[in-house]
Amino acid sequence: MRPTASAMKAEMHHAATPPESLWSKGWYRLAKPLASPNHGPRPGLTPTDLVVIHSISLPPGVYGGPEIEQLFTNTLDWDAHPYFQGIRGLQVSAHFVVRRNGELLQFVSCDDRAWHAGVSHYRGRSQCNDDSIGIELEGLEGESFEAAQYETLVSLCTALGQHYPIQHIAGHEHIAPDRKKDPGCGFVWEFLQQNLGWPASYFPESVRRA
Ligand SMILES: [Zn+2]
Repeated sequence: MRPTASAMKAEMHHAATPPESLWSKGWYRLAKPLASPNHGPRPGLTPTDLVVIHSISLPPGVYGGPEIEQLFTNTLDWDAHPYFQGIRGLQVSAHFVVRRNGELLQFVSCDDRAWHAGVSHYRGRSQCNDDSIGIELEGLEGESFEAAQYETLVSLCTALGQHYPIQHIAGHEHIAPDRKKDPGCGFVWEFLQQNLGWPASYFPESVRRA
């Protein structure tokens, strides 16, 4: 298969930087580390072969504030906004957050189990937190995302694919279709498929490009 332009670019980049040096115990060196207490060990019975894409903003539709970091580090002031009262006490995390400007934050080592998927089922397995890597895009489900976010996402997924046995990438909406709608119809799966150069079989059937 002919590599895409971006895959060749990624290859050239990684020729200069050996892929293994981008990782230290599951922490990605190009992300800003902000350790979250909301994680645990992976059961380790299955390979970490799934990337889950989410969207989040707090309050919904408001961008650029510290609230996502605060939520994932259990420091959010639940009384600061009426919306927060509805999620009071929630203990969640994702491995990564991609801000609107493309800035990449990491909250949990990819070797550990983050708490982003909830009740979920995909590729014949339940409890997707056990063996997936969660990436939150700052945004609102159904709305569009920024070019800088796609750029960060493509380089992060490329690095993940070189370090973990990734064979699937899906939205929260695909692994928990009864409960979740993120990242929603504003997320362009086709861009990801074209620019990652991953086989079509890695993508959910409903968004897959022939
Ligand atoms: Zn989600």
